[in-house]
Parts: sequence; structure tokens; C-alpha cells
Amino acid sequence: MWRAEKREEALMDFLRPLLPVAYPMLRLSRLVRRVVPGAGAGAAELRVLLYHDIHPRQLDVFRDQLTDLSRRWKFITPVQFERVMRGEEPLRQDSLLLTFDDGFASNSQVAEQVLKPLGMQAIFFVVTEFVDQRDRLDARRFICDRLKAGTEPDALPEHWFNMGWTDLAHLIEQGHVVGAHTATHERLLSDVPEDVLRHEIINGADRLEDRLDVAVRHFAYPFGDFRSFSQQAMVIAKTRFDFVHSGLRGNNLPGSSSLVIRRDAVNTGDSHALIGAFLEGASDLRYHRAGQMLECWAK
Ligand SMILES: [Zn+2]
Repeated sequence: MWRAEKREEALMDFLRPLLPVAYPMLRLSRLVRRVVPGAGAGAAELRVLLYHDIHPRQLDVFRDQLTDLSRRWKFITPVQFERVMRGEEPLRQDSLLLTFDDGFASNSQVAEQVLKPLGMQAIFFVVTEFVDQRDRLDARRFICDRLKAGTEPDALPEHWFNMGWTDLAHLIEQGHVVGAHTATHERLLSDVPEDVLRHEIINGADRLEDRLDVAVRHFAYPFGDFRSFSQQAMVIAKTRFDFVHSGLRGNNLPGSSSLVIRRDAVNTGDSHALIGAFLEGASDLRYHRAGQMLECWAK
């Protein structure tokens, strides 16, 4: 792991226990701003949740999280999200879009057992060569080599392997959207040769499009932090996609760039108050400058 990432993680470890404590105040301050005229209530917010694998034993916890969030936020579909971001549809209330990264097999289960009964649709960002893996052991090796570098297949949770092409076709049948997450989960840095960047960003997506026979307009760059992306990669991505998703936390104001989508990474181990605090913007400021840089690159 990079030194900067370690620092970031240490800071997050320090902040995590504090954020849930701040949640009631943040929520209250938002409510006050909404009802007091001239208090800067602002427009409705549009935020994007970023999940990865969901442990099969935690489907109930995940379902509870979504139900809980539905009381405060309106879940919108990927199609509605696209329309709002393009300015074709107004955002009338605070809304959330659901996304999943990497293409873990558990995503299929989540779609079938949780999202379908709740009538929710999501974007699933998949790594093309991970989808290609036909053997479970090869898929687990891929995870160790490309997704969780430094791990060993024996140390991975048993349910960690990939969704295959049929699983993705099934997701599309259910109204979900498949987005690109590169060919091999490469870090898209400025010193990566251009042909490699193009292969990761463009070929990865084109192959999804060919195999699944759907347009692939959404892209999420691997790792999601500012340091794992580059201007060179953005220049290529913006020629190919309508929507580029990051892992930077924040609100996606209608009318802001569709090439710098902010997302809030959460997992089933996070408390209601922690997720609530993130979504009320408790740590948005930390990602503000990085978001601005990405917006410059996207112009
Ligand atoms: Zn990823």
C-alpha cells in the first residue's frame, strides 16, 4: 500500500468513531436550513452509494440499511440518475443511486434477493477480465493479483469469486446497468503507457458492450481515490463515456460534471449513524480539492 494511502487510512480510522456522534447534529442542521427561510437550504441532493462485495450472511443487514436509508432518501434508478445529471429531469427530493464495484459473485445474489423485492435498480461496475474467469480458483487468483494485491487465495472469504457473462446478462434483464471498471483493474496513473490506458479504459468497455449487446456509458476508475487517476486517463475516458464515477465523497449537484461523479463508499459493517454522517456531508470537505482537480481535467 502507498504511504499516502496509509496516511489516509489512519486519518479515516481516527475520524470514523467521531462521525456517528456528529450525525444527529448534522441532520438537525440540515432540517433547520430547510425550514428557515434564507438559511441556505439549497437544492435537493444527489448522492451515490458505493458498495463492493456483500457477504451472503449479511443480506439481511444490507436490506435493513437500504430500508433505513429509504426513510430519509429516495432511491432513484440509473436511468433517472442519467436524466437528472443531464438536466432533463428536475431533482425534487434528496436522492440516492446504488452502485457496486468489481463484479463479485455476491452482487448477483444481492440483485435477486434484495434489490428485486425492493424494486431497486443499480449500476454494477465490472472488471472485464474478472468476468472472463471461468474457474473459481482462477477468479480467486485474479482477486489476489488485481483487486486485493498482497492477499493469498487461501486467505480470501469462501464466497469471493466473480460474476460471469450470464450473470451480467441476467442483471441487465432485471433492469440494472453494467458499467466498465477497466480491463484488469489497473491503477490509471500518468506514467502508464497510453496504449495500456486505452486498453484498460476503452477495450475493457468495448468488450462488455459486444458481449452483452448494451451501450456501456458509465465508467468507474479503480480504487476511486484522487491519486489512482490521472489527467491522461481522464482525457481518454471522456472520449468514451458519458459518466465517470470516482470514489470521492460528495454531493452530485444537478448540472455538475457527469465526468466527475462523487460516490460514498459504505459497507454492511457501517452503522446507520456513520452512513448518515457521510451522506450529510461530514467528510465532503476532504474531497473538495480533489473533485475540483478532476473537474479541471474533465473540461
Ligand atoms: Zn475496484
